[in-house]
Amino acid sequence: MTVQQQQSTIPTILVYEEDPGSFGHVNMPVPHAVPQLDTQPFPAAIAETAPQPDSAGPGTEAFRYWVAADALSSACQTWGPLVPTGTHWHPTVGRALTAHLDAGNDLNAFYDRKGLWFFRRTVAGVTVASCESGDVVRHEAGHAILDALRPQLFSTSSAETAALHEAFGDISALVSALRQESLRSSVLAETQGDLEVSSRVSRMAEQLGWAIRQGHPGAVDPDCLRNLSNSFFYRDPVLLPPSGPANMLSSEPHSFSRVFSGAFLKCVAGIFRQQDLQDQAGLGLAAEIAGQLLVDAVVAAPVVSAYYAQVAGHMIAADQRRNGGRYGPFLRSAFVRHGILSLEAATSITEAEVSRRSVGMAEAIPGGGDEEGLMPVTVHGATYGLNQPITLSAPAEERRFGIAASDPAGGSLRPTDPDRVATSFLEDLVRRGRVDVPEEYRTASAVVDNSASRIKTHEIARSSTGEGLALIRRCFD
Ligand SMILES: [Zn+2]
Repeated sequence: MTVQQQQSTIPTILVYEEDPGSFGHVNMPVPHAVPQLDTQPFPAAIAETAPQPDSAGPGTEAFRYWVAADALSSACQTWGPLVPTGTHWHPTVGRALTAHLDAGNDLNAFYDRKGLWFFRRTVAGVTVASCESGDVVRHEAGHAILDALRPQLFSTSSAETAALHEAFGDISALVSALRQESLRSSVLAETQGDLEVSSRVSRMAEQLGWAIRQGHPGAVDPDCLRNLSNSFFYRDPVLLPPSGPANMLSSEPHSFSRVFSGAFLKCVAGIFRQQDLQDQAGLGLAAEIAGQLLVDAVVAAPVVSAYYAQVAGHMIAADQRRNGGRYGPFLRSAFVRHGILSLEAATSITEAEVSRRSVGMAEAIPGGGDEEGLMPVTVHGATYGLNQPITLSAPAEERRFGIAASDPAGGSLRPTDPDRVATSFLEDLVRRGRVDVPEEYRTASAVVDNSASRIKTHEIARSSTGEGLALIRRCFD
C-alpha cells in the first residue's frame, strides 16, 4: 500500500482549529483524524451518539459533534502528560468527563462536577452553538482539569481563586490549541513571531463574543470574548467594582482572570524567544513548558488571599527545579508587567530561597479534600438578605514565599485578611445576581434577581456541618 492509499483509508473529520470566527474573520474547517476520547489519565465522553466520521460541514450536528470531540480530546491530551501521576477527575465526575452538546438555549457553557454543558442560541439568524468553538470546549475542560488538581478552589469564597479558575480555562484553550502544527505556523505568520500580540490564539471565542455583543455591546471585547493579549495591571479584587464593561477591570472572575492569563501569554512568548529555533516546533515546546510550570505551581501553591502572587512565585520556583531557572527572568518580567508580583517580590525569589522552601513543594500532591486548607467564616446573613447566619470558606492556608502583588503606586500590597476576602466575594455575587437564594432563607427586604438569563453559579443551602446556611458553588461558567 502506498502512503497515499493508506491516508485515504484513515477516516477524517472536519473541524475548526479553535473557533468558527466571526464576521470578517470566518475560519475555514480543516481535516483532522478521528479523535480518541477514552484516554488516560483524563477519559472523556460525549452524551450524544457519535455520527459517522465523514466530512460533514458547518451547520450540521455531525460537524458540531466532531468539533467538540476533537477539542475535548486535545485538552485532555494536552494536560494529561503534564499532571502528577495519580491525578484523576473529581470523584463526582465519574470515570469519564461527559460533555452535553445541546443543554439548552443560552450563550454559555459550564462545568459542574457532573460534566460539561454547552448551550446554543440563534442570534441574528446565526445558530451559535458553544460546543462548536474549540476555545469554549477547551476552556470548560480546563475547569475540570484544575478541579482534579486543586478541588479546594471550587468552594473557596474568593474572587482571586475563582478568577484563577477562569484564567486556567483560557490558558487551557491557548495551550491545547497550540498542539496543532498548522495553527502554530498560522500564528507565527500572523504575529511575526511575537506571541505577545493579539492573534487567533490570544482571542478567545470570537463567535460567542460576537453573539453576546449583539445584545450587550460593551460586555465583551470588540473582536472576541476576551483577549489574553492585554495590559491589565493587578489590583486587589476586594477594592474593584463587582462588574463593568470589558475595557475595564472588575472583580468578576472572567474579567479579573485577564490579569493572570495576560501574564501567562507573556510567559509563553518569553519562553519561546529562548528556544533555539523560532519555528512552529519551538512554539509548541514553549507552550508545553509554560503549561508544565503552571501545573506544578497550582498543585504546590497554598490557597490564600493574593493567590495570583503565590501561583506566580511557584511557577518561578518550578522553573528553578525543572530547568535550572533558565526562564526565570522572563517569567518575572511577565508577572511584574501585570503587577502580579511586586518588583520586590519578584527579585526575592532567589535560587537559595527556592531550595530552602522546596521540600514542601516537592511533596505536594494533587487532589485532597474539598475543604482542605479553607477556614470557615460565619457572618450575619441580614446584609445579604438572609434570615440566618451564613458560613463561607475563606482562603487561609499557610503562605509559602513572603511575596505580594504590586501596589500600583509602587512597592508591595499587603494581602487582605481571609475573612474580608470571603465576605467581599459573597457581596459581589449578590450584587451581580449570581446566587440562588431559596425563598425560605430570604428576609423581607432581600435583593432578589429573578432574571432567567443569568446563570446562578452559587446557591444558598442549609449548612451540612454546622448551624445556619452555607454558600455552595454549582458550577464554573
Ligand atoms: Zn469559565
